[in-house]
Amino acid sequence: MVEEDIKMVEEVDNGDSVEIRDTDIVFECPKCGKELVIDYRGAGLQINCSGCDTQVLVPIPDGMQLADLDLDSGEILKQLFATRRNYQKAEIQIQELKMRLAQLQEALEVMQKVVAEGLELS
Ligand SMILES: [Zn+2]
Repeated sequence: MVEEDIKMVEEVDNGDSVEIRDTDIVFECPKCGKELVIDYRGAGLQINCSGCDTQVLVPIPDGMQLADLDLDSGEILKQLFATRRNYQKAEIQIQELKMRLAQLQEALEVMQKVVAEGLELS
């Protein structure tokens, strides 16, 4: 698994026109500053920089779990899209809940007023 990933990096680096996909991790070598592109499955691995041959650690993208790395790219993308959809749904739900909360607060005020008036009358 590890050897496969390192081979993948070399293939990318040897290409004249490097095509960066959404799932690729792009980062700079901390020593020589060369831009390195690696498949997301290389996250968390040590690779040799193609510019200065220093061992560098591939950063793990935000929100990515190392456990996810065992999934294939289709699974990862499915999860990513599902997460985005859930996030959008959650934002809509939050707006709806805020409106509902405002309505309930209004209703509560009315009821409190009624109770207070009822107490005054008795
Ligand atoms: Zn370097």
